Amino acid sequence: MARYNGPVCRLCRREEMKLFLKGDRCYTEKCAYERRAYAPGQHGNARRRKRSDYGEQLREKQKVRRIYGILERQFRNYYVMASQMKGVTGENLLQLLERRLDNVVYRLGLACNRAEARQLVLHRHVEVDGRRVNIPSFLVKKGAEIQIREKSRSIAKIADSLGGVDRRGVPGWLELDKENFRGKMVELPSREDISLQIREQLIVELYSK
Ligand code: SF4
Repeated sequence: MARYNGPVCRLCRREEMKLFLKGDRCYTEKCAYERRAYAPGQHGNARRRKRSDYGEQLREKQKVRRIYGILERQFRNYYVMASQMKGVTGENLLQLLERRLDNVVYRLGLACNRAEARQLVLHRHVEVDGRRVNIPSFLVKKGAEIQIREKSRSIAKIADSLGGVDRRGVPGWLELDKENFRGKMVELPSREDISLQIREQLIVELYSK
């Protein structure tokens, strides 16, 4: 299945919550979901029938896929990895998603959304422990240092994004050195660190059928 290139605000309206796919605009009253908090399309505003259990599980999975910008097959692979790890599968799944390099770059505030972070990584602007990495799904390890390459620090988008980092905040499992365009993963992200409204148990139920 191809990557979705359509209007992203539609996705928030479809999932009936803010997925923060656009960056700073998501924090203003211009946010499309703030203005039209119902599903897109002609009948989006009509009263909905109650969803089946399967429907709930499917929507939860789609929501998480859309938040992290991941295709179906890769998402299922994360589930398989999570189910083979020690601990609670749903929490492992979220931890794996949070450890993706594009997500870490976004969470550090070096990009204002995950799509932009993904592009920074693909275009080889990001280094992990001093080595260039251009794989957005690269899993960052505890203690790893992530930085923007020296040559790339003049990119206006990065400076813009860092300008808004105080408003968005940096999670406790990461440390940002704003002046040096650098950050560190000081801890592995735990479930409590992920403030998104996600019912990961539904995803586990969906895949374990
Ligand atoms: Fe979603 Fe952001 Fe668009 Fe609001 S502005 S609908 S949070 S992508």
